[in-house]
Amino acid sequence: MGEFDLIRRFFQRPAAAGVEVGVGDDCAVLVPTPGARWLVSSDMLVEGRHFLSTVDPARLGHKALAVNLSDLAACGATPRGFTLALALPRADEAWLAGFAQGLWALADASGIPLIGGDTTQGPLNLCLTVFGEAPPGQALLRSGARVGDEIWVSGRLGDARLALEVFRGRVVLAGEAFEQVRVAMELPTPRLALGQALRGVATAALDISDGLLGDLGHLLAASGVGATLELAALPRSAVLAVQPPAVQQECLLAGGDDYELVFTAPPGARLPDVGVPLTRIGRIEAAPGLRVVDARGERVDHGLRSFDHFQS
Ligand code: ADP
Ligand code: MG
Repeated sequence: MGEFDLIRRFFQRPAAAGVEVGVGDDCAVLVPTPGARWLVSSDMLVEGRHFLSTVDPARLGHKALAVNLSDLAACGATPRGFTLALALPRADEAWLAGFAQGLWALADASGIPLIGGDTTQGPLNLCLTVFGEAPPGQALLRSGARVGDEIWVSGRLGDARLALEVFRGRVVLAGEAFEQVRVAMELPTPRLALGQALRGVATAALDISDGLLGDLGHLLAASGVGATLELAALPRSAVLAVQPPAVQQECLLAGGDDYELVFTAPPGARLPDVGVPLTRIGRIEAAPGLRVVDARGERVDHGLRSFDHFQS
């Protein structure tokens, strides 16, 4: 199978609505919604760094797109298209079929067409770019949090990190419990509907990819504010809730790969109900820095920091 057969077989489909020219020409041609703003984001996934070589290719196809869609969700964008740049050691048909199936399933469920990309031989590496739209002035940014705002998070935190610790041999889980946290790690759900529903409601937002402490820290820095987080309020699964306190803290605060949205909103704001649980986890304050407190309001000395590719 040559490069162009591969593209035709796995990644080319008839152009979708809003796409004048899709895969097959030198550029894709998109039809913008009049007046809308473009929102663009890229995320690269490198074997051994972002995923294990043994991962099911369909799950990898899902995750590669999910982590990119999560950035659109964080900004409240409506997905419009994505590109896929793929380096593959060889054209393994079974692997490609699985990967494409996972990718297309999430693309179809999210209403986002594949509009182009690049395919090359090389160490397994996936780089996607997503394009979305939002009305002028309505993109959710990191910089809008105000003193007195409440801090909210969607879904549950820490399960993906717990699964990683099982793979690393630091935590033992079996059966249903392991499958549940493994799904959190391998099949994250981008919170697109929530992000769009938070336009005009949230003052600031981002998605958690590298761990709550670090990612929330970026939001605080961008907004020029500080915050206090309540450790006991952080939403966690029944599987994580029975782990030792130190493991729970690490997974919740510095886990990474959560792909949940953290956002701020004034007290009393009418939050949207899109079927995703929302939990209030803290408050924005004027004093700079991020404090974590326990159920009695005492400072928790966690000693944790977020994932950093060049410091880990
Ligand atoms: P060019 O050499 O002009 O950059 P390519 O030969 O690399 O174009 O690709 C041919 C067409 O296939 C282009 O439309 C490109 O966007 C698309 N394409 C290449 N690889 C992929 C891929 N992995 N997924 C989707 N589209 C792809
Ligand atoms: Mg060309």
